[in-house]
Amino acid sequence: MAEHAFAQTDNSGANEESLRMVSATPIGNEPVSDEELRPHVLDGFIGQPTLKAQLQLFLDAARKREVPPDHILLAGPPGLGKTTLAMIVANELGVPIRVTSGPAIQHAGDLASILSSLDAGEVLFIDEIHRLPRAAEELLYIAMEDFRVDVMVGKGPGATSIPLTLPRFTVIGATTREGMLPSPLRARFGFTAHLDFYPKEELEKLIERSASVLGVNLSAGAAAQLAMRSRGTPRIANRLLRRVRDWAVVHDLDTVSPDDVCEALALYQIDIEGLDRLDIAVLNAIVRHFNGGPVGLNNLSAMVGEESETVETVCEPYLVREGFLIRTPKGRVATAKAWEHLGLKPQDDVSKLF
Ligand code: ADP
Repeated sequence: MAEHAFAQTDNSGANEESLRMVSATPIGNEPVSDEELRPHVLDGFIGQPTLKAQLQLFLDAARKREVPPDHILLAGPPGLGKTTLAMIVANELGVPIRVTSGPAIQHAGDLASILSSLDAGEVLFIDEIHRLPRAAEELLYIAMEDFRVDVMVGKGPGATSIPLTLPRFTVIGATTREGMLPSPLRARFGFTAHLDFYPKEELEKLIERSASVLGVNLSAGAAAQLAMRSRGTPRIANRLLRRVRDWAVVHDLDTVSPDDVCEALALYQIDIEGLDRLDIAVLNAIVRHFNGGPVGLNNLSAMVGEESETVETVCEPYLVREGFLIRTPKGRVATAKAWEHLGLKPQDDVSKLF
């Protein structure tokens, strides 16, 4: 069964992010409460059809050949199902999974001791693998390629390294920053999967599945209302569903209607596009105080009273992806969609600002 001894998530630069309802990284004790919502077999994993078909073939081949599969790299933004897929792979293969993460491994020796205790066929899941220290990375290349690890015995000039042969195992690496992985490490993976944001129809199915696990009755259209606000991210969808369940419990509702979803999430200041208070504050600042922009990051951050890093790494990626904001060399510019979302008519000359 899964061990979570070292499980950690990359929250670097995202302290504010971890306080937001629409954060893609886990908040509070969520990694624990998430467990009940994880599908355990590939069939239960919603969406990502191409990736699922590829992975199914890859696992079937390994099973037929009766050897552990090649190493797998899962890349994509937080909350899209990388950890879930790793658990599914181990479960489908009927092997145990050991869970660790780049930041949890501080020295090469930490990794050496994990590697040297792996059983044949075991899956080693390394979350945020791009954050492994350099020395551990180098040790991992060799272990992945030659199934060998050099264990250092002693210290200083008298230290010797003893080569240890490892049984065949499978590394599953997960990363939110594939570009930061050194190419020799990337090259050790026989299968790389890129997870993408989920379209609304897939999120709707996911929400319906989670609702049945949690025992929440959603009436027609309620899952769609939740999906619209979930920023393409299963983790956010599940979190919003739990808050809607709170609403249903407190209001003694047997069934949750689309209006209940709207009311419950309005309480958390999450609007129909999944924008929260901070996103709206950023758009308001650009549109109302800077006439649509362009405005520099520092001015913008001062106006909304947040660290510039928070605005840049937490708000902007989603606003840019959804077409509310454009980053130009002169600064941030609000698009016509942003003006309209705030109930305003876009400025006639807004196009001149690009
Ligand atoms: P990541 O490791 O990419 O940050 P996780 O695998 O922890 O994301 O997924 C976050 C939550 O979303 C999990 O609780 C899981 O139940 C759910 N989830 C993610 N992807 C799917 C999916 N495709 N189908 C069903 N549930 C999913």
